[in-house]
Amino acid sequence: MTHTTGTNTCPTWCIALHLDGDTLHHGASIELPVMRRPSPGERLFRPELSATPMTLELVAHQETGEPAPWIAVLHEGAAVLDLTTLSADHLAAALLALAADARR
Ligand SMILES: [Zn+2]
Repeated sequence: MTHTTGTNTCPTWCIALHLDGDTLHHGASIELPVMRRPSPGERLFRPELSATPMTLELVAHQETGEPAPWIAVLHEGAAVLDLTTLSADHLAAALLALAADARR
């Protein structure tokens, strides 16, 4: 499904204003606080550190003319992953299965 914003026909999830010829569709980003394993350096100097917080940003985006959207996983503004929607589905399912198995 699409809707029109300015001169662009946008996907329903697009919130971009498309000012000054901006052609990138993007949705509302999701900030996801997570706990990650400390790096080897962090564990060396702070062995008591069991896990440390970080925030990931998740956002759908699609350049005008691209056939399908992407799901970006960003950390501090840099893309860590930029996946097709099918791959995002597969990653989510695999993470759920791994987490469930690891808790047993
Ligand atoms: Zn748009």
